[in-house]
Amino acid sequence: MTRSISILGATGSVGASTLDLIRRNRADWRVVALTANGNVAELAALAREFAVEVAVVADEKRLGDLREALAGTGIVAAAGRDALCEAASRPVDMTVAAIVGCAGLGPVMAAIEQGGTIALANKEALVSAGDVMTAAVARHGATLLPVDSEHNAIFQCLAGSRIGDVRWITLTASGGPLRLVEDLSAVTPEQAIAHPNWDMGAKISVDSATMFNKGLELIEAHHLFPVGLDRIRIVVHPQSVIHSMVEYRDGSTLAQLGPSDMRVPIASCLAWPQRMDTPCAPLDLAAIGELTFFAPDEVRFPATRLAREAAEAGGAAPAVLNAANEVAVAAFLARKIPFSRIAVLVERVLDDRSFSSAPGSLEEVLGVDAEARMRATELLELA
Ligand code: NAD
Ligand code: MG
Repeated sequence: MTRSISILGATGSVGASTLDLIRRNRADWRVVALTANGNVAELAALAREFAVEVAVVADEKRLGDLREALAGTGIVAAAGRDALCEAASRPVDMTVAAIVGCAGLGPVMAAIEQGGTIALANKEALVSAGDVMTAAVARHGATLLPVDSEHNAIFQCLAGSRIGDVRWITLTASGGPLRLVEDLSAVTPEQAIAHPNWDMGAKISVDSATMFNKGLELIEAHHLFPVGLDRIRIVVHPQSVIHSMVEYRDGSTLAQLGPSDMRVPIASCLAWPQRMDTPCAPLDLAAIGELTFFAPDEVRFPATRLAREAAEAGGAAPAVLNAANEVAVAAFLARKIPFSRIAVLVERVLDDRSFSSAPGSLEEVLGVDAEARMRATELLELA
């Protein structure tokens, strides 16, 4: 049976991996909407290839170019934030949420309101909105499937078990490309982006280098799997073969293993609760040889501590942490601040006591996000 699907952030790394799987199983899927930030040429090519209903570019200035690129196809071309949400709200069996950053929150919420299945890669949206998003999922009878490899692993390890029987959730972290680099102040964007195991977008690659990715994932896990923050721990596992683990009260630990290829967790969402083929290389454990594990170094990489503190504080803190990190990462990529200042800036914005009230709606989350961005930008300019 053909199923309908929309991909938010279709031109990115997760978007491309998703479309690769759909291309290999073309008859199973009808693609309804594809979106991108500003890459009109790529978006139009994909929209034509998959004969979609609507293609949306976030950057309104690119609407003319998109219309031109889709002329004569019958595909609706649209632009801007409202158009993104309109496209996301078209009823589909599955939405793949693969926009990077809190920019994806509005579209994800629009998709949730349709009550379908959301395959969520866009962790920043869940970190910022937290209970606002999980409550909307429950209210609209939507299903949230985690694409993030760690959360997808945990989801698989939890299958059929009672959450009350879980003793520990262990998130594995590769430790990123800088784990063994001594002088973090001299790190360039090129070094930070060169991830040893995964090929990903620029923002998440920097997040892996700072460990903010694992910090965001801790908050993400806390919302997806309600075992309590004190039962979620992080272990550094440089080979990225075990994608995460669940330990039960009887002493059994279940782990999910696989190649470092996002097509594995994406396929697990696309086919859920069944399975589908992927072209990924089989796991060759004899060739890998060794799996090693280390405790995270929160002195050199304070991000996981900051994220845990923000999650414990609750309220606006996770949205503030996320927004400040987005601003800091963009400044680092633009070579405006050194690598080591990313965590310092996030901590300073979090220390700003003016963010106290807990956001209770999408609008309030977006308000906190905007305020925290302003504060982070001010602090950047002061320095
Ligand atoms: P990416 O930068 O490669 O792609 C991001 C996509 O979002 C692109 O299609 C881009 O056009 C779109 N986009 C960017 N800014 C936008 C904006 N302001 N408004 C609308 N659209 C915008 O990123 P990615 O690596 O594919 O990551 C996407 C999400 O998935 C992130 O939240 C990331 O943390 C998460 N994730 C990625 C991976 C991975 O392997 N790449 C793994 C786990 C989770
Ligand atoms: Mg991950």
